[in-house]
Amino acid sequence: MTKEEIKDLYSMKDILDRYGLPQPNRAGFICCPFHKEKTASMKIYKRDFNCFGCGANGDIFTFVMLMDGISFKEAYAALGGDYENSFSARLKIYQAQKKREMQRKTEERLKRKREMNYLLMEVYRKWLDWLEPLSDAWANTYNALQYQEYLWEVLNDSKECYEVIKQLR
Ligand SMILES: [Zn+2]
Repeated sequence: MTKEEIKDLYSMKDILDRYGLPQPNRAGFICCPFHKEKTASMKIYKRDFNCFGCGANGDIFTFVMLMDGISFKEAYAALGGDYENSFSARLKIYQAQKKREMQRKTEERLKRKREMNYLLMEVYRKWLDWLEPLSDAWANTYNALQYQEYLWEVLNDSKECYEVIKQLR
C-alpha cells in the first residue's frame, strides 16, 4: 500500500482505537497522550491531529511515530506498508506498549496509595482524639500519623513519589 492508500484506509479515530484511547468528545477533543493534562486540548480531525497544549500535530503516521517512538518507515510498515523492517517496527511498538502499560500501572498504584494514605491520616487523627494522651497506644498512633503525613508530602510530589513507590513495594 502507498502512504495515501493507508491514509484513506485509516481515520484518526481508527488510530485512537488502535491505542485504546478514548474517542473525541463532542467538540472533537481528546486528552493529549503526549503531555500531561486534565482538560482535553488535542483536536482530532479526520486525517490529522493538533494539540493546542504542547503543539504536537500531524497525520496518522506522525501519531503512530510519536506514540511508539518509531521512525516514519517503521510507522508506515506498522500500518500495512511493506518495508522490510516491519519486524523491528513491531518490536519497538511492542516495547512502547509495554512501557505505556507500566506507566499506567504505576499511576494506578500511586492513586491507590494516595487514597489509602489519606484514609489512614483521617483514622489516626480520630484515634488521637479518642485515646488517652501520652499512653502507649496514643504514642504509637502519633508516630504512625507522622509517618503517613510524611508519605502525604512524598506522594504528592511528582518528582519523588515514583522512587518511594518503588521502595514501598
Ligand atoms: Zn499535547
